[in-house]
Amino acid sequence: MAADSNCLFCKIVAGEISCETLFEDDAALAFMDIGPVAPGHALLIPKPHFETLADATADAMAATLKHLPALVRAVQAATGCEAVNVLQNNGRLAGQLVPHVHFHVIPRDPGGQFSFNWPASKYPEGRMSELAESIRSHWT
Ligand code: 5GP
Ligand code: ZN
Repeated sequence: MAADSNCLFCKIVAGEISCETLFEDDAALAFMDIGPVAPGHALLIPKPHFETLADATADAMAATLKHLPALVRAVQAATGCEAVNVLQNNGRLAGQLVPHVHFHVIPRDPGGQFSFNWPASKYPEGRMSELAESIRSHWT
């Protein structure tokens, strides 16, 4: 399995750094985030090392993400939270500090400290279709 000896989450997968495990199988690991933005904040990772989603294989992510509904249900049931965000940061500018693909499961409750801006905008005429065509042409 691909691993990076300098990667924090690879060290957690290898058992070199301990974590509070929630679930694991051959392909994936779910564990408690050590710096929760809300109580119950959990992480789900593929066991192989991929820095970002763009580097990851479809098979590895399918084998990881199939556990996401169960993790969300368990976090929601355990915390009694009203809502849940699933967040995934790719690249430093997007807020990724640990360069091993991971999905945050974050319980949300009224009055919680975690929030983010969603500055929805509008495309100029034609720009959405132009970008969509470019995205379709780069599908791999
Ligand atoms: P990122 O900013 O890369 O999307 O998120 C990285 C997450 O990993 C952060 O929420 C941070 O609290 C968590 N984290 C960093 N180091 C450790 C660690 O050693 N153990 C655990 N369980 N979580 C960690
Ligand atoms: Zn790694």
